[in-house]
Amino acid sequence: MDTILVVNAGSSSVKFQIFSVEGEGKLRRQIKGQIDGIGSRPRLRASRADSEPLADRVYPIESVSDVPAAMRIAGEWLRNELRISPIAVGHRVVHGGPDYDRPVLINHGVVAQLERFITLAPLHQPHNLAPIRSLLANFPALPQVACFDTAFHRTHDAVADHYAIPHQLYAKGVRRYGFHGLSYEYVAQILPQVAPEVAKGRVIVAHLGSGASMCALRGGRSAESTMGFTALDGLPMGTRPGQLDPGVVLYLISEMGMSASDVQNFLYRDCGLKGLSGVSNDMRELETSEDPKAKLAIDYFVYRVCLNAGMLAAALQGVDAFVFTAGIGENSMRIRARIVDQLGWLGFTLDPTGNSRHARLISGSDSRIPVYVIPTDEELMIAQHTLSLLLERPSPSARHERVS
Ligand code: AMP
Repeated sequence: MDTILVVNAGSSSVKFQIFSVEGEGKLRRQIKGQIDGIGSRPRLRASRADSEPLADRVYPIESVSDVPAAMRIAGEWLRNELRISPIAVGHRVVHGGPDYDRPVLINHGVVAQLERFITLAPLHQPHNLAPIRSLLANFPALPQVACFDTAFHRTHDAVADHYAIPHQLYAKGVRRYGFHGLSYEYVAQILPQVAPEVAKGRVIVAHLGSGASMCALRGGRSAESTMGFTALDGLPMGTRPGQLDPGVVLYLISEMGMSASDVQNFLYRDCGLKGLSGVSNDMRELETSEDPKAKLAIDYFVYRVCLNAGMLAAALQGVDAFVFTAGIGENSMRIRARIVDQLGWLGFTLDPTGNSRHARLISGSDSRIPVYVIPTDEELMIAQHTLSLLLERPSPSARHERVS
């Protein structure tokens, strides 16, 4: 069975999935797994796509001290115990910089290019590149593909891509990139099946997870995003503040004596729902909390989603459909109901029964705008891109090299 390995590596975890390649280039998810607690309490957990458990093991801290070690453990487990040797690996890479507007087959030159974008995403890019480098060193014949969170947004017009700062900085890469592109690309790809009548129109997609952003789609292409240069901007998130006056950062430095790395840690780890509530970064915990600050954090989240919906509606000059996706968007009927209610001025109404059943279409029959819940699938998107680039490779004879 030909398989594709999809890898999403972070600072302390490596998530992976195995897809089998079926007839006519169709992909079927077979296995989901992750190694978390890298460098603290390493643990491998994996299950089949139907949730049947396959592994749950802890490892001594010294045997899984970094991402390459975690990749080695996961690779050995797949090869030795499941007899799976993927024909290619697709990686989630947060930053493709100004140039990459689509996934790319990886070689040493591409890795060197992607290393230049570490300064644009210092908390994510190094961890995304670590497994790529170790696979390139250990399995040089294994095709690897980098799929970027930024690429889908490279269709933005100049006005959506710029900040009002001198051009030299734009040339250096200080631009409004936008993120969660693989999620939006998946939604844009599936919309013609879910809602053919609106798929070519103006659609606002709200990716509401522990990272959260919104995207304005015009004709299935990204026209605007609430995120910009980094994944800090836009909506409040689990631990990131979302939109913030840059004056606050100046205040932290000049009045609070914080260093650049203090500010970075603060903005990525201590703000957002966690900072505002003082209770949790997890929406489920906030929804069950009696603490008034948890209520304020939820009110703020809903308020900012609706403010940004107005902004994206202006960018699109109207709205033909609204889509919820990701952890909160797919699972929290209360947050969805509040957002639809606050967007009533745009003609949104809710079907409470459909919403409580997490139906695909949750708007009322009298709603001027249809509202959908579409579970995202960034991993499938990566597997699809990986397979397409594999099939497009110039030398067919080189196609089916396997990890030996
Ligand atoms: P993600 O990053 O897409 O995995 O989403 C994670 C976020 O989704 C966390 O804030 C979770 O609390 C939230 N979430 C997951 N399930 C639910 C649920 N049933 N109700 C509310 N929030 C949820």
